[in-house]
Amino acid sequence: MIISVVSGKGGAGKTTIATSLAHIFQADYYDLDVDAPNGEYFLQPEKWTTREVSQQQPDIDESRCRACGACTKECRFNALYKIANHIYLTEALCHSCNLCCEVCSEGAISYKPVVIGKVRTGHSNKTWSRAIIGDLNIGSTRGTALIQDIVQQIDSSGTVIIDGPPGNSCAAVAAIKPADLVVLVVEPTPFGIHDMLQTLDILKNLHKTMVIIANKSQGDDPLMSLLAEHGLKLSASIPLQTEYHKALLNGEIISQCDQQIYQLLLQAVAAELLKQ
Ligand code: SF4
Ligand code: SF4
Repeated sequence: MIISVVSGKGGAGKTTIATSLAHIFQADYYDLDVDAPNGEYFLQPEKWTTREVSQQQPDIDESRCRACGACTKECRFNALYKIANHIYLTEALCHSCNLCCEVCSEGAISYKPVVIGKVRTGHSNKTWSRAIIGDLNIGSTRGTALIQDIVQQIDSSGTVIIDGPPGNSCAAVAAIKPADLVVLVVEPTPFGIHDMLQTLDILKNLHKTMVIIANKSQGDDPLMSLLAEHGLKLSASIPLQTEYHKALLNGEIISQCDQQIYQLLLQAVAAELLKQ
């Protein structure tokens, strides 16, 4: 069972909820917010093992290239360009699609592996399970590729919590795709609700079952009315409270320090799981 925790807006409280669910279900926790993973500050894993993740990248052999420009024309991501009979690659734009290699009639393009990030696995005494953290190399734009690599190796024999990247990009979709259940965290503000609507479109297109949780709430009426228009309902609401912020600043998991939150999240997610 894979549960992905996502939010359209950054800072909505996705990691707050994801670490709490990992604690409640004593589940493996995958931090796929690879640009800025921070779940480990709450789960405090130990005994790390690390593996590097690489992706193939074009390598142009100048002695074979006749500067025909075919590869630059075909690259959909404008990663290749030609200046004075030389072909240059902008690594940050390359998606490793292999097309340039296919179109080069001179066999001038081969591939070389480039490290895009790493995956660290530790054991958390707070969840009695593993914490798997994706770290994208600074400056790399291959977040989606790193997430896809980690997702392919998920062991879903038990319950798994994915803490996805915020937003509604390809990286977020990569973290949503493997989910049996999606927990959508919403900050009930105009920005939060705007971004939530985009996430709802993605979830509907992917036919995902979802549980919607409001966080930092100071009143849910507009959100509930909007969800009702979409045939959806709010499953739980966590109020904006100074005590929760203090707990988070101290690296505490809020379901561990507040029994009410524990029950609220357990009931919201368990109710949906029982239907499946
Ligand atoms: S397609 Fe091959 S020969 Fe043509 S410019 Fe690109 S690398 Fe050079
Ligand atoms: S592998 Fe694909 S994205 Fe990268 S340079 Fe070649 S055609 Fe462009």
